[in-house]
Amino acid sequence: MGIESSCDETGVGIVRYHESGPAAGTCDLLADEVASSVDEHARFGGVVPEIASRAHLEAIVPTMRRALAAADIERPDAVAVTIGPGLAGALLVGVAAAKAYAAAWGVPFYAVNHLGGHVAVDTLEHGPMPECVALLVSGGHTHLLEVSSLAEPIVELGSTVDDAAGEAFDKVARLLGLGYPGGPVLDRLAAQGDPTAIAFPRGMTGPRDARYDFSFSGLKTAVARYIEKSERSGTPVVVADVAASFQEAVADVLTLKAIRALEDRGIDTLVLGGGATANSRIRSLAEERCAAAGVTLRVPTPRRCTDNGVMIATLGAHIAASGASPSALTSATDPGLPVSTSLVP
Ligand code: ATP
Ligand code: MG
Ligand code: FE
Repeated sequence: MGIESSCDETGVGIVRYHESGPAAGTCDLLADEVASSVDEHARFGGVVPEIASRAHLEAIVPTMRRALAAADIERPDAVAVTIGPGLAGALLVGVAAAKAYAAAWGVPFYAVNHLGGHVAVDTLEHGPMPECVALLVSGGHTHLLEVSSLAEPIVELGSTVDDAAGEAFDKVARLLGLGYPGGPVLDRLAAQGDPTAIAFPRGMTGPRDARYDFSFSGLKTAVARYIEKSERSGTPVVVADVAASFQEAVADVLTLKAIRALEDRGIDTLVLGGGATANSRIRSLAEERCAAAGVTLRVPTPRRCTDNGVMIATLGAHIAASGASPSALTSATDPGLPVSTSLVP
C-alpha cells in the first residue's frame, strides 16, 4: 500500500509486486483511490497549505477504506508513504496515518521519496525500468533526474532555480484572467494560437548557464511586460498567441535540457512525470526530439502523472523487494527531502 499526501491530492494505492516469473520487477494494480482538494484552492490561485492539510485530514480514512475495499483485502503486506518533499502540514497527515496503520496491522513501514514515485509508477504500464533520465514537471517541481535503478538513490542533474513549470502556467493564466489551475486552460487556448507570434525568452539556455537547471520566473515576467505594453499602446492582446508562444517557450527549454542530459550521459530512455506533462506541447515536442535522438520516451497515463498513491506503492514495493530495511516508526517528515534520499531510515 502506498499513501500520498505531499500536496493537494490524498492518494491511497495498492499494488501486487512480482518478484519472479515473466512479470518480475513489475506490479499489478489492485486499487487507486485519489481525493483532490484542487477545487478548494481555485479562488486563491494556488495551493493553500492550511486548506490542503485540512482536506487530507478529512479524506485520508475514507480514501484508505475505499482502497482496501477496491483491492478486496483486509490489510496489505507493507505500507509505504511519501515522507518528503512536500508541504509540511500535508505530509504529516499521510505519514501519521501510514505509521498508525502499519503499527496496527503489524506490517513493515517504508518512508519513501515522492519524486522517485513519479518515476516508479511508469513500470505499471511500460514494464521494468531501465537506466533512465526523468523529467518531472508539476506545480511544485521541475527536476531533471538520473535514475540507475528504482531501489537506488536518484541523482539530481538539475532543477528550477525559481518557479516550477506548472507554477509558471498557473501564474501566466492568472495574468490573463483565466483562473486556476492554469495549465489545462492555456493548453486548450494555445491550440488556436501561433507559437511563433511572440519571441518569449528561453531561460537559462545561454552558454554560461547551468546545463541542466531551469528558470521560469523571467518568462512569466516577460509575459506580464508583453501584456502591459500591449495595453498601454492600445493593441489588443491575442490571448491564444500569448498562450501558444508561452507554452512553446516552456516546452522548448524542458525538452532541450532533457535531450542534452540524455546525450551527455549516454542514456537512451526518458521518463516524464508530474501533472504538467499532461501538456500537449510538452508531450509532442518530447516525442519529436526523442525520436530524432533515438531515445525511448515513456509517459504514464495522465491520471498517474499527477500525484497519487499508486506511485508510492510501486516505489515502496521496489524498495522493499531490494531487501532494504524498513523505516523506523519515529522517522520524521522532511518537506525538503533531497531526491538522493530514496528511503528515510
Ligand atoms: P507536486 O508538485 O507535489 O507533484 P502539484 O499538485 O503541484 O504536485 P500536480 O497535481 O502534479 O502538481 O499538477 C498540477 C500542475 O500541473 C498545475 O500547476 C497545473 O497548472 C499543471 N498542469 C495540469 N495540466 C496541464 C497542462 N495541460 N499543461 C500545462 N500544465 C498543466
Ligand atoms: Mg496536485
Ligand atoms: Fe508530485
